[in-house]
Amino acid sequence: MRVFQKISDLRDHLAGYRGRNIGFVPTMGFLHVGHMELISRAKAENDIVVVSIFVNPLQFGPSEDLAKYPRDLERDRKMLADADVDILFAPTVEDMYPRPMRTVVDVPDIGRQLEGAVRPGHFVGVATVVTKLFNIVQPQSAYFGEKDFQQVVLIKRMVEDLAQPVRVVAVPTVREADGLACSSRNVYLNPAERLAARIVPAALDEAERCYREGLDDPAALETALAAFIVNEPLAFAEVVAVRDPETLEPVHSLRAGPVLVALFVRIGSTRLLDNRVIGLSNDAVTRAA
Ligand code: AMP
Repeated sequence: MRVFQKISDLRDHLAGYRGRNIGFVPTMGFLHVGHMELISRAKAENDIVVVSIFVNPLQFGPSEDLAKYPRDLERDRKMLADADVDILFAPTVEDMYPRPMRTVVDVPDIGRQLEGAVRPGHFVGVATVVTKLFNIVQPQSAYFGEKDFQQVVLIKRMVEDLAQPVRVVAVPTVREADGLACSSRNVYLNPAERLAARIVPAALDEAERCYREGLDDPAALETALAAFIVNEPLAFAEVVAVRDPETLEPVHSLRAGPVLVALFVRIGSTRLLDNRVIGLSNDAVTRAA
């Protein structure tokens, strides 16, 4: 595996791969099996796989966990080499942003709601860094996790609106044995919080149960799920939303088509994100993303 830190070095190297398919997996590192799933998918579908590790300051708010975000580049490097990844791009903040950014990419209707309402500016940071990484790597395909469902919707729309020549592939969420979605931030949880975190996938099961029992009113489902999460004293639900999985707009009925149940739950000081599309078969879930 080749490792690059400088944009110009990576570009020079990639020039040798003209005509071959590049699959790209952008990450913030501290890799887990969820990231590795994106990488296997990229390997299966491309000639060359490029993984980036960059904890992007633009997408963190001033009171967020940028400084303490977990990092272990050496461990990540070994995992990627073992997975036969071709290229790791691991720039520093100075490499990516040698000067303050004066240009941003904003997808306001999608990026200011749900997680974006709780984290102002987050999705401008995401759209901007992903665009810059696409420009550097110039992949044919890029792989994103459905765990960050809103991110997938936003990036698909950005690519379409700006005619970015990249196929965006959404990969289903990889979970721990008890259902908690794998996340680099799970290391923040102490043992009691880790147990409490099971309320998040349990709430998604509850949503499915309410749907199967015939509930039709999205507001009633949101209320029921908020009440379900309150049962866990360590949990605080910041976002409980039922939305259209393609536009993220509110829906009027749970029966009119598939709906996205999006959860943003704080356990102690750790924010956990999860979601499920209900009213669809699993194959169709992936297509909807
Ligand atoms: P991150 O390093 O957290 O920014 O994530 C990098 C990519 O991995 C994003 O596209 C995430 O959606 C994806 N990802 C993170 N966790 C999971 C998971 N549990 N299953 C599938 N994909 C994931």
